[in-house]
Amino acid sequence: MNENFLQPCTIELNKQAMQKNIRFLYGRSDKDIKISSVIKGNAYGHGISTFLPMAEECGIDHFSVFSADEALGAYKNRKKPDTDIMIMGMIRDAELEWAVEHGVEFYVFERERLEAAVKAGKRVGKKARIHLQVETGMNRTGFDGDELDDIFRKVAESKEHLELMGICTHYAGAESVANYYRITKQNERFLEVLKMARSYFDPLPIVHAASSAAYLTYPEMHYDMARVGIAMYGFWPSSETYMHTLKNDNSFVDDPLQRVLSWKSEIMSTKNVAAGEFIGYGNTFLTSSDMLIATVPIGYTHGFARNLTNAGYVLIGGERARVVGLVNMNMITVEITDMPDAKKGDEVVLIGHQGDKDITVASFGEMSNNLNYEVLTRLPSSIPRRVV
Ligand SMILES: *Cc1c(COP(=O)(O)O)cnc(C)c1O
Repeated sequence: MNENFLQPCTIELNKQAMQKNIRFLYGRSDKDIKISSVIKGNAYGHGISTFLPMAEECGIDHFSVFSADEALGAYKNRKKPDTDIMIMGMIRDAELEWAVEHGVEFYVFERERLEAAVKAGKRVGKKARIHLQVETGMNRTGFDGDELDDIFRKVAESKEHLELMGICTHYAGAESVANYYRITKQNERFLEVLKMARSYFDPLPIVHAASSAAYLTYPEMHYDMARVGIAMYGFWPSSETYMHTLKNDNSFVDDPLQRVLSWKSEIMSTKNVAAGEFIGYGNTFLTSSDMLIATVPIGYTHGFARNLTNAGYVLIGGERARVVGLVNMNMITVEITDMPDAKKGDEVVLIGHQGDKDITVASFGEMSNNLNYEVLTRLPSSIPRRVV
């Protein structure tokens, strides 16, 4: 018996869209910059095991993750031995040796980790590849100004066990013009730190600070590498970033960023419901006339939010069909009265386009771009992903 059952929904990654985004992003810098693809949060819901090899094929050779377990996932899924992986956040002392052994780069933002990195390098017999993160005003992680001399000296003295790969910082919200002053101050502090670092390291290692928003908005913050997440997946970090980009370059005909991900399911069943009946659990939806409905086998277990009850839309046969009744754990009901030809097995688009209609990720939230991050990372890792 064939037990290779298909799941009720699939996520498709569009390689051409990805290539287009990468080309656009490289075109935004005058410098010979390197772009690290940020793939924390299961590659922003795109699925690390599918996304990473696709990104490698598109020419990306540096990936940033949050934690050691994500680094392990990236390491196992890379296809090219020269692909670099960098941990920007959580790594336990016990996990350091694995990182050193496998050449995985990691942030160092406190003295204890620096000491542990030296020890791990010594024990493994390979240099720990570290990025020093400095505090410039985000106030989350990073070395403070008054400890830097000491830290730089220690790094310089530990060359035998450490390879200083980078010096970096992170801006506190470059996607909003409201943070302009804070970001600018951060960058001034970062420049001072770099000046100091020059007396210890010549040449300086790779300097990096910008995420998507800073990269698209502040060319003076490009440095040697940018850590780009959301934009590579085809989303603007905010509508301000979008406006800023278009205002400074009116040569674009279409949106230069293209969504990489689509999410699809199919019609499970169709049914006629008479006027005056409730649909599904409880009494959230009462039919005012005879209605044709379709059930679609996706629900909040798959990340289709309950607040789309009586509010969300899907695409069937190139037309919008509205969600009627409660979003269930594994099922939704949508109205297809105007689509008498719709039948079991027909494609249902939850995110993506069909014909000339489109359903955006933002429409899952409150039509706000900032929620893209959250909606995307809520897509469960159990949904199969494939490249198209
Ligand atoms: C998530 C993250 C990024 C990428 O941010 P985007 O807005 O998705 O481009 C860059 N740097 C750090 C430290 C991050 O945590």
